[in-house]
Amino acid sequence: KFITFEGIDGSGKSTQSRLFADHLRAQGHDVILTREPGGSPGAEEIRQLVLTGDPDRWSAETEILLFTAARRDHLEKTIQPALAAGKIVICDRFADSTRVYQGATRGDLRTMVDSLHVLMIGREPDLTFIIDMDPATALERGLARKSGEDRFEDFGLGFQETLRHGFLALAHAHPNRCVLVDGNRTPEQIASEIAAHL
Ligand code: C5P
Repeated sequence: KFITFEGIDGSGKSTQSRLFADHLRAQGHDVILTREPGGSPGAEEIRQLVLTGDPDRWSAETEILLFTAARRDHLEKTIQPALAAGKIVICDRFADSTRVYQGATRGDLRTMVDSLHVLMIGREPDLTFIIDMDPATALERGLARKSGEDRFEDFGLGFQETLRHGFLALAHAHPNRCVLVDGNRTPEQIASEIAAHL
């Protein structure tokens, strides 16, 4: 099974991916916990290229190509081998992040994002938890642990709201794959709701 976690920055998706992986391992499953952008040596290098440096270093189109290249490498080197070996793969962000971050925020690029996905990735998760979160609270959390190295971390509240609506729209468009989770609760409450979906 291939399971992804999605949501805006500060939504708690990384914490929930980890808690869910711990939960499944405690039940005896063989689990790989991975993330995007990154998750394989080559994709981690692309992560550095895309997340650091001058904000105008890449055009939006080039950025989509870089995220897609990283995802292709991650899929080939990490995700597919693990699935073939019968492991459960849990991934913190996947193609839905590109649909929302690059597609929903620059609506004119959504067709490009979708076409590249069909051409180069062609795989959807079996299950996606979308953690929905009040953008103002998420932004506060995000700013509190801001690394300063990630040039995507500086977005304002309006941008976070656009992202949130992008994720909500995806959840509604793909009800069989996506489970919307209320992230405005304690990590333990959220984790037990997620665990109950098994
Ligand atoms: O999830 P994580 O914080 O590691 O993501 C790194 C950064 O990359 C985030 O700030 C997110 O906004 C950005 N990102 C993006 N487009 C994607 C995936 C992540 O802008 N497709």
